[in-house]
Amino acid sequence: MLVHRRDVIKAAAALAVSTLPASLTLAASPSPAKALGLQSLSDGHLSFPLTFYLPDAPPEERTSLLQANGYDAETVTPDCNVTLFRNGDRLILFDTGSGSRFMDSAGLLPQSLETLGIDPEDVTDVVFTHAHPDHLWGVLDDFDEPLFSNATHHISKIEWDFWTDENTMDKMPETQKSFAAGAKRNLEAIEEGIVRFEFGTEILPDVFALDTSGHTPGHASFEIQQRGDRFLVIGDAITHPVVSFQRPDWTLGTDQDGEKAIRTRKMLLDRLASEKIGFLGYHLTAPGIGYAERHAGAYRFVPA
Ligand SMILES: [Zn+2]
Repeated sequence: MLVHRRDVIKAAAALAVSTLPASLTLAASPSPAKALGLQSLSDGHLSFPLTFYLPDAPPEERTSLLQANGYDAETVTPDCNVTLFRNGDRLILFDTGSGSRFMDSAGLLPQSLETLGIDPEDVTDVVFTHAHPDHLWGVLDDFDEPLFSNATHHISKIEWDFWTDENTMDKMPETQKSFAAGAKRNLEAIEEGIVRFEFGTEILPDVFALDTSGHTPGHASFEIQQRGDRFLVIGDAITHPVVSFQRPDWTLGTDQDGEKAIRTRKMLLDRLASEKIGFLGYHLTAPGIGYAERHAGAYRFVPA
């Protein structure tokens, strides 16, 4: 008997949903995200030693800032928040989570979609902020085929060119060579029909691509504009709910161009605070939706 591969996956996903831990809850997205048809879906969380996450920050200052705000000073465990945008007959996902090959604590997006009654085949567009594992590797299923099989995939041209370049692997630090290998492998698997966009363009109706490079060479954020409402999907341009806001001048271990990532973070924080625009940050505390406020010479995150 022939069993369609997708039916096997669906059955497995249904089983997984019935045994989901109580901690995997779907975020109720507040206005203006809700008004715009945006939702935050959990892909789980990551786990890094602090020394890898913030390698250049003064150790004592780093520890005291995190402890004063109730965070562990040895390990960071950032949430992973995928944005879902329903716009007319389009169902758009921003990033695809980690898949099953990065960290055991991540890769839960398929269950989150299942909980909402969304079949991966219903997704019309997949838009990437960048090609790091926790944003890209969920694009393929366990059989290495595109999970969102009917979707058009979109990525910035600069990001595509960087990760598919033969020489990129050599430029990466030892700890991130697997990022390069994974990016190339996953991107080449979805190469057919992928759209490579330029910054400053409307890539889909009401969705504009912004240059927020630095974390990676072609990192994009997205501004959603509809009927006078605006909202930003910021990916990893701002990553930590305390560190990125209070110390935007501290580089992350995964910021590929540290100086540029700092400039981008400060530019974005200034704009978010000045214009009071709501945003969704991929690694901010789930659901990752809120506002930026000026505070004590820097900024603070105000969850919505
Ligand atoms: Zn990330």
